[in-house]
Amino acid sequence: MAAKDKKILEVKNLTKFFPVKKDFFGTSHSMVKAVDNVSFYINKGETLGLVGESGCGKTTTGRTILRLHEPTAGEIIFEGNNITEADMKPLRKKMQIIFQDPYASLNPRMTVGDIIGEPMEIHDLEKGSQRKDKIYQLLEMVGLNREHASRYPHEFSGGQRQRVGIARALAVKPEFIVCDEPISALDVSIQAQIVNMLEDLQASLGLTYLFIAHDLSMVKHISDKVGVMYLGKLIELADSEEIYSKPAHPYTQALLSSIPIADPSESRKKKRIILEGDVPSPINPPSGCRFRTRCRYSMKKCEELEPEFKEISIGHFCACHLVSE
Ligand code: SF4
Repeated sequence: MAAKDKKILEVKNLTKFFPVKKDFFGTSHSMVKAVDNVSFYINKGETLGLVGESGCGKTTTGRTILRLHEPTAGEIIFEGNNITEADMKPLRKKMQIIFQDPYASLNPRMTVGDIIGEPMEIHDLEKGSQRKDKIYQLLEMVGLNREHASRYPHEFSGGQRQRVGIARALAVKPEFIVCDEPISALDVSIQAQIVNMLEDLQASLGLTYLFIAHDLSMVKHISDKVGVMYLGKLIELADSEEIYSKPAHPYTQALLSSIPIADPSESRKKKRIILEGDVPSPINPPSGCRFRTRCRYSMKKCEELEPEFKEISIGHFCACHLVSE
């Protein structure tokens, strides 16, 4: 079996609710349904792009997989082992995260060398001169150089700081990385450089990514598969090529229609689908299909019955009454 066909991570019915509105006795009567019954898998060496508007649960999904949030229900299987309740300390080496905000995620009082060396210290990896050499090697891998080790985060640009964040994640030789909107805070000109670098690192180190982004254009080039989330639910999942050429869910179609096209004649032909209204509250989501309050095809059934997340063609899953019957 080719390495790419081997599942490295699988989530089954992953659910994360956060309690809100505590009463006088400290009891909570409502829940934010941030992630609700989400299932997918990622093969080793592949990238799953996870997209959706802010508040759709994509970041909570990534963090719950790493158990930075404890799941409310469901299972997380990593390398064939159920890690839903496992001790995460030994697994932190294998499962890392790159944060969205390169400004907030680096300690301003630490040098870049110490920032990259910290995970090695925590996990008791490489010591003394070996650690120093490893830090230099990591800096070079992310397009920086050894002179940068003695500098502080404020001396770097946004793109360079994100490179430091990536070097820090790589310091413990992980196998799986949650890239939590790693390019959203960067200038457009820098975004492609970071994505290209992540792709090169993936190829040379055999990494697997869950790449979280708020729009489909950002994950297009890096993803083997793409999942679309809406209000805590995974509503469509397919191979990258399939989802961009044959989007089945009305929400995915609307997201795709809003991606700008460089060619003016192609752009004129394209019809933009405007989504009306705001994303409803995840505390009290709409009955039936959660997208129904913004869907131009909504019908009576959509209000009464939640659509099943069904395979509509090989490897293409969708939750919509229009296509899943
Ligand atoms: Fe729209 Fe109904 Fe499909 Fe939901 S189930 S996306 S409301 S048509």
